[in-house]
Amino acid sequence: MFHGGENIMVILSSPSGVGKTTLTKKIQQKYPNFKISVSHTTRSPRSNEVDGVDYHFVSKDNFKKLIKENKFYEYAKIFENYYGTLKQSVDSTIKSNDIIFDIDWQGTKKLSKFKNLNLIKIYLITENKEELKNRLVKRDQNTQIEVEKRYRSFDEDVKHWKDYDYIVINKNLDICFKQIESIINLIKKKLVISSRIAL
Ligand code: 5GP
Repeated sequence: MFHGGENIMVILSSPSGVGKTTLTKKIQQKYPNFKISVSHTTRSPRSNEVDGVDYHFVSKDNFKKLIKENKFYEYAKIFENYYGTLKQSVDSTIKSNDIIFDIDWQGTKKLSKFKNLNLIKIYLITENKEELKNRLVKRDQNTQIEVEKRYRSFDEDVKHWKDYDYIVINKNLDICFKQIESIINLIKKKLVISSRIAL
């Protein structure tokens, strides 16, 4: 039930291939108080992915069972697979940690409905569509069909940028990281100040 106090929840969304995963990991390395929310998914693991670290990889039947049991704060069907955020892990983590979510616009909409959250919504984007294609191809973890599917979803995905608090362009990874850092630090400071005022 989200009892986070001064802890914050940062959502990072972007079209596939913008560099969200790298940035998420960088934040966690520099700020150990941040934990990455590990989603459940029905998609198959990529060669470099570890079960329980990158995702909890589950079967469609298992995922549907979790839906029925109302275990998710949010879930969505993306590229033919299901992805979801478990209530239980968020509720226990937020008590003592900040959380980063790497989720799409559908999940962001659903989490936004929960009020009284210290939620920051950041949308990451490449400087143009061609750059996105280059990165998807370079990533070399997707088949040609997957690259095309992800590239084609770009137009639909960017339509939802308005639902976010900040838009950050990932042209240079270090600059982009610094921008995200300053957003997080600003919000953290604001929360500390307002909790002192409330005392
Ligand atoms: P990928 O298959 O490339 O790892 O992820 C595809 C998309 O699913 C990404 O946009 C990612 O942010 C999104 N995603 C990952 N986990 C979740 C989740 O738990 N909920 C939602 N709504 N989207 C997720």
